[in-house]
Amino acid sequence: MKVHVDDKVCQGHTLCAMVAPDVFALRDEDGHGYAIDGDVPADLEDSATEAVRSCPERAIEEILQRTAR
Ligand code: SF4
Repeated sequence: MKVHVDDKVCQGHTLCAMVAPDVFALRDEDGHGYAIDGDVPADLEDSATEAVRSCPERAIEEILQRTAR
């Protein structure tokens, strides 16, 4: 799973970093959220998904990856 914050949509509500502090951080200059690492480790996917849902601006894009078989 990958996540990406659309900076044009983000309004700096901070919820993503509160819900998933290991996945999202806030920039000092404008308080906007960003993904610390676009690739989310498996053990953080649940909290990342929760953060995607909690963003009031729907600024976080969740990119689901399918495992090749
Ligand atoms: S919750 Fe959404 S609007 Fe708020 S900082 Fe995170 S990405 Fe931006």
